[in-house]
Amino acid sequence: MFTAPVIEGDCSVLCAHENRGVPPCCSIRRHVPMLFKEEFAWLMKKTRMWSPKRALFSNHHAIMFCACKGVRECDRHYRSLSCRFFPFEPYMDDRGRFLGATWMYSVEKTCPLVGSAPEKVNQAFIDQFVRVWTKLFLVYHEEYEFYRAESRKLREAFARIDRNVQVFTPSLSRAR
Ligand code: SF4
Ligand code: SF4
Repeated sequence: MFTAPVIEGDCSVLCAHENRGVPPCCSIRRHVPMLFKEEFAWLMKKTRMWSPKRALFSNHHAIMFCACKGVRECDRHYRSLSCRFFPFEPYMDDRGRFLGATWMYSVEKTCPLVGSAPEKVNQAFIDQFVRVWTKLFLVYHEEYEFYRAESRKLREAFARIDRNVQVFTPSLSRAR
C-alpha cells in the first residue's frame, strides 16, 4: 500500500490559505489528476468520487485525465496514485537506472514543498514511492521511457543554470 504522507503532518497548511482553502494540488484549475485506466476502473467500483475528463486526451495509452469531486468531498482512502505521488516524480540516471524520486519542479511556483528542506521529506514516503513505481514500470514500459526522457531533460535544463537535481533515494540503496 501507498499510505505514507510526504512530510509529517498536513502540508496543506503551507498552501491552502493562499488558494481559498483549497491546496493547489487539489485544484482542478491547476492540476488535473492522471489515473491509470485500470486504476480508474478499480476506483469506480469503490467510490463515486472520480469521473473521466473526456475533453482532455493523454498521449499515454495507459493513462486518462480525471476529475475528483474536490477537496471538501475527498474520499481520501480512494484518492489516486497521482494524488499520493504529488509533488514527486520518478528519476532515472543517464544509464536508465531508476534511482528514486525527484521534485515535480514544474509545480515549484505553486507547491511550497518543492525544493524545500529535504530532511522534511518522510523516508517512508520515498520507500513506498519507489516500491510502487518499480512495480508500475514492470507493467507500463511507456511510463518508464517517459520518465527516463524527462529525467534527462531535467538534468540538461538544470546543468544550464548550474542547479542540482535533488534526488531522494530509498533506504535500501542508502544502506548499500
Ligand atoms: S503537496 Fe504541495 S500543493 Fe499539495 S497540499 Fe502539500 S504543500 Fe500544498
Ligand atoms: S482526490 Fe482528494 S487528494 Fe486527490 S486531487 Fe481530489 S481532493 Fe485532492
